[in-house]
Amino acid sequence: MRLPALAVALVLVPAACAQGTRAPDDPPARASEPARTSEPDGRRAHSDAVRGYVSYDGAVIALVDVDVIDGTGGPPLRGQTVLVERGRIAEVAPVDSVAIPGGARVLHLGGRTVVPGLVGMHDHTHMPGLPFMGYTATRLWLASGVTTVQTAGSAEPEAEAALARAVEAGEAVGPTIFPSAHYVTGPGGNGPMSKPATEEEARRFVREGAEAGATWFKLYRHVEPHVAAAVIDEAHARGRRVTGHLCSLTFREAARMGIDRIEHGLTASSDFVEGKPEGECVSTRRAAANLDLGDPRVAELIDLLVREGVTLTSTLAIIESHFPHRPQADERSLAVMSPEWRRRYEERQGRLAAQPVTTMTPELLATLMAFERLFVEAGGRLVMGPDPGRHVLPGYGNQRGFELLVEAGFAVPEAVRIATANGADALGVGHEVGRVAEGYVADLVVLGGDLAARPSAIRDVEITFKGGVGYDPHRLVADVVGQVGLR
Ligand SMILES: [Zn+2]
Repeated sequence: MRLPALAVALVLVPAACAQGTRAPDDPPARASEPARTSEPDGRRAHSDAVRGYVSYDGAVIALVDVDVIDGTGGPPLRGQTVLVERGRIAEVAPVDSVAIPGGARVLHLGGRTVVPGLVGMHDHTHMPGLPFMGYTATRLWLASGVTTVQTAGSAEPEAEAALARAVEAGEAVGPTIFPSAHYVTGPGGNGPMSKPATEEEARRFVREGAEAGATWFKLYRHVEPHVAAAVIDEAHARGRRVTGHLCSLTFREAARMGIDRIEHGLTASSDFVEGKPEGECVSTRRAAANLDLGDPRVAELIDLLVREGVTLTSTLAIIESHFPHRPQADERSLAVMSPEWRRRYEERQGRLAAQPVTTMTPELLATLMAFERLFVEAGGRLVMGPDPGRHVLPGYGNQRGFELLVEAGFAVPEAVRIATANGADALGVGHEVGRVAEGYVADLVVLGGDLAARPSAIRDVEITFKGGVGYDPHRLVADVVGQVGLR
């Protein structure tokens, strides 16, 4: 499929800041400097608002003596130097074999792990009850090592597309954003969503959404089959892609229509609901809870998804939040919530604790995780995103999703691949984003520790490089303390 034009524009221009090097403790660029200028070496310039978060910048940066988990799924490469030149990765090789150019900014990073920037694939710019959170989400994403996001449905598509353009232009801080249109649902659906009734309305919705900047369209639970088919067809005709949080459509039906991606995995599958009326949304949870993964229908469905090239998005972080026996908000998440959001969280926790454990059992969570493993073992492409909401926040939720993939049984390098290269591939940019490899855009995360030995090191982000520019996670987080959930 043709790559959306906007997506090309977003990734082909390596972002970088002012030329020359700056020590991590240097003050941000002076306000009297021109806000944005083109650099002599052709790199992209950034506004002062962005530069305030930059800790490392320069035409050539060498990350010396790091362990690299490169996004391919291969084992960790120990004792490497990653050489970054003009926003791209110039070389990845053992320390002794890399000649570092004079004038390079050299960072000795023994004991650290370098992974590709995370590619978040269900990373909304809103949370339920909170229409747009661009300011906090962009900072939390970057602080958490997320350098690319696909939003999987937007509550405010105009604001989201504008934010994507501002980041691309160097005017706003944040990851590269692949924006979405409004969700598409049908009769019985609610929330800030569109409900085209006819095929023609569906096609017009896609045309207008694409013109407004949407790169992806999201089908939601009550979408009518004829509308879904028209959205998919019209989106593909315009080089755009379609994902779905399904219910009225089974995974099988959507795969046969040509859907590109499906969100949430088995928990949202109506394929195994006995007597499901065609085109109608019914509760899926009990069918998932009662499903034996050894049932041949499971293997048949997985085979179909793999054959049709349908990507699945793992959203284990938000799924975990439904299970009373699981950990809920951590201290760092509570610290960035607004007092009102935190109060809502605590009220919800009270309800969750009082709720009898009926279907939300440890066994069900294990089944949902095992389904994702079976899909990957069959050759399916799994990507990952947090689906922010409740206490599952942008960025922190991506890291939690990574930890849960490891808990689900994926080896650390495989979980890295799911969280990075697989997402880039699903976005059509896997040829230059999502791997630590020569020629790739220098979207890199420096983690304080041995990630292979301690998966929770995914939380210990020391530097997030985006397009070769190193951002300071602490400055980014400091600017959102107490603010997530403010309107
Ligand atoms: Zn969502």
